[in-house]
Amino acid sequence: MIDSYGRKINYLRVSVTKKCNLNCSYCGAQNESPENELSAEQIEKIVKAFAQCGITKVRLTGGEPLVRKDICDIAKRISKIDTIKKLALTTNGVLLKDCAKDLKDAGVNAINISLDTTDRELFKQITGRDVLHKVYEGIDECEKVGLLPIRLNAVLIKGQNDNEAESLINIAKERDIDVRFIELMPFSREGEDKSLVITGDEILSRFPFLKPVSANGSDFEKSVARYYEADSFKGKIGLITPVSDKFCNECNRIRLLSDGKVKPCLGSDLTFDLKEVINDDVMLQETIKQAIFSKPMEHKFSCGYGQHHGMNRIGG
Ligand code: SAM
Repeated sequence: MIDSYGRKINYLRVSVTKKCNLNCSYCGAQNESPENELSAEQIEKIVKAFAQCGITKVRLTGGEPLVRKDICDIAKRISKIDTIKKLALTTNGVLLKDCAKDLKDAGVNAINISLDTTDRELFKQITGRDVLHKVYEGIDECEKVGLLPIRLNAVLIKGQNDNEAESLINIAKERDIDVRFIELMPFSREGEDKSLVITGDEILSRFPFLKPVSANGSDFEKSVARYYEADSFKGKIGLITPVSDKFCNECNRIRLLSDGKVKPCLGSDLTFDLKEVINDDVMLQETIKQAIFSKPMEHKFSCGYGQHHGMNRIGG
């Protein structure tokens, strides 16, 4: 469906839970309970209605999507919808080792793993848990069972983990894995402090050997990441710059939160409640169309993090 600014909206991000098994300092997931979560059946019904409005790509996210015991069931239901061509999942990777094969069998065909450091102590400091080895095991398992492509997403914070950029980039040198840097957004007190943001341009100036990739990523991701390559690197480096260089004019996304609310833009408080209309097919479609049509022209981070949902609720 085309929104009121002429953008084709074909990508739905589904946050299946607010709960997370990590507690990243910049994200905002603290002791969230799973109340009012949509069931697998309800998610399937809503995604089907979105598919009828032109959604062809779905990403499962959270909170941490793998804390839901029925995540493979959810994936299976969505991948069976004829017009959904791409089903991706974003995870912190901690529980991935044990379910990578099941996710692949359930139809997940792309995986993003969030990893902000390769240093065990720093990982513990950022996330609150000493489980970096589990993330590595999850990555290895995805390669082993062919749950590909794998992308790593990192948020760098000045003075905290910005020195980790090099070792993260080296992963793309050695493995066929893209490593992407996402600018810190103001969804926590840390993100509110602009001086802590490492911009895409800063990364390019630190690593001048990175050269733009001419065909900028796959159709699925090209609206958000700018990709770079380097001689002898197996993977690419991606920059996602919502703070220093907005890409709203190319935004093709809409977000479903775990409680059934639709959020047309991550940087706006506008939501539409689909749970209220889930038993009325016509109203469900109408409300989705209204949400797409109400998508703001661009995100505004200026009103402060307190006015937004935390990232764990929005799903990144
Ligand atoms: N638990 C999953 C994970 O860790 O990937 C999925 C949810 S998490 C909210 C999705 C992504 O949002 C992660 O890559 C995380 O780094 C990113 N994120 C969280 N807070 C952010 C912020 N303030 N600015 C930029 N990205 C953020």
